[in-house]
Amino acid sequence: MNKTEYMEMGEKNILHVYNRYKLVLEKGEGVYLYDTEGKKYLDFAAGIAVSAFGYNNKKYNDALKDQIDKLIHVSNLFYNIPSIEAAQKIVKATGFDRVFFTNSGAEAIEGALKLAKKYAYNKKGSNDYEIIAMNHSFHGRTIGALSVTGNSHYREHFMPLMPGVKFAEYNNLDSVKELISDKTCAIILETIQGEGGIYPATEEFIKGIRRICDDNNIIMICDEIQCGMGRTGKLYAFEHYGIKPDVFTTAKALGCGVPVGAFVARGEVADAMVPGDHGTTYGGNPLACAAVSRVYDMFESHEILSHVNEVGRYLEEKLEEISKEFPCIIERRGKGLLQGLALKKEKSAGEVINKAMDNGLIIISAGGNVLRFVPPLIITKENVDEMTEILRKSL
Ligand SMILES: *Cc1c(COP(=O)(O)O)cnc(C)c1O
Repeated sequence: MNKTEYMEMGEKNILHVYNRYKLVLEKGEGVYLYDTEGKKYLDFAAGIAVSAFGYNNKKYNDALKDQIDKLIHVSNLFYNIPSIEAAQKIVKATGFDRVFFTNSGAEAIEGALKLAKKYAYNKKGSNDYEIIAMNHSFHGRTIGALSVTGNSHYREHFMPLMPGVKFAEYNNLDSVKELISDKTCAIILETIQGEGGIYPATEEFIKGIRRICDDNNIIMICDEIQCGMGRTGKLYAFEHYGIKPDVFTTAKALGCGVPVGAFVARGEVADAMVPGDHGTTYGGNPLACAAVSRVYDMFESHEILSHVNEVGRYLEEKLEEISKEFPCIIERRGKGLLQGLALKKEKSAGEVINKAMDNGLIIISAGGNVLRFVPPLIITKENVDEMTEILRKSL
């Protein structure tokens, strides 16, 4: 079948919730993707910040192949070695105490919200609890995660959602303080807003939230699903701010392509959940956790964080240069290898992205007409040069 036939068959059989780019991707090698016509693309999307080691990485693939031949699934009624090892590695690398594995980012958010509610219930003995979330946030598409997603466009057709959620202004501490009540059980925020348009939190904001949570015995949840796993040059982005949340969520690059997420909590909070409170059939299965475990090993052996710091700084410089050259660019925002270029209304991000694809570069957008750059973490400075050349042409 040719590309058009594949696209038609997909449109006929798959639920229509995406306007897809007109590419049928077939294989990948390093930081390049290939479509069904053999055309090569430099990938600055990484499957939306997922494929940290790019494509067809032997060390990663071998871990999965070995695990497939041993054991793929057993359920959480039994122990399995990959999940035990993967959890141990996360605990050791972060200094948190307990991990719950999920199959997606949204499910990690669901679990974190349940944990905050249960913790509050144990403390105060009632469950009429409120959660403060942020405008322009994105936490996922399930009902609970959608309830804390601050984008009315995603929410409006699915009301009523989970009650008790209030939205504050990101990077505006006073707007958070105004919403605190004796019923608030959690404040949830992305350490760097991704889908909403690549907005890093200010230090004052993150530290202020930590203080509010400490003073009021409220759970602080950092959503690190997009900005975590080394993308900003620290394993988790909250480390830039010198604080620790009570709970954080992780997914996307956690399994580098195998569907897996997790919520991770400090001990006293984690202990609020007891047998029967939460569960999952697939979550933490041997195949997914073999991926997580190998990804953590590769983060260490490849010194990926120092690489991201170096190449991230270079990407930032190059994007700054471009934003000075092109008047259609309002500003560059981001940290490390999570970068955005905000465009003026006259210049549609979608059009630039389509031109870039014609020119052999894959980039994606984020909310509010922003070009988003979330390449594999193994990208080199030469790859950045290649990207900027195509981007100039496409702008
Ligand atoms: C992608 C994302 C999610 C949702 O993850 P899914 O795996 O798509 O459910 C949640 N929060 C943030 C910050 C994300 O970027």
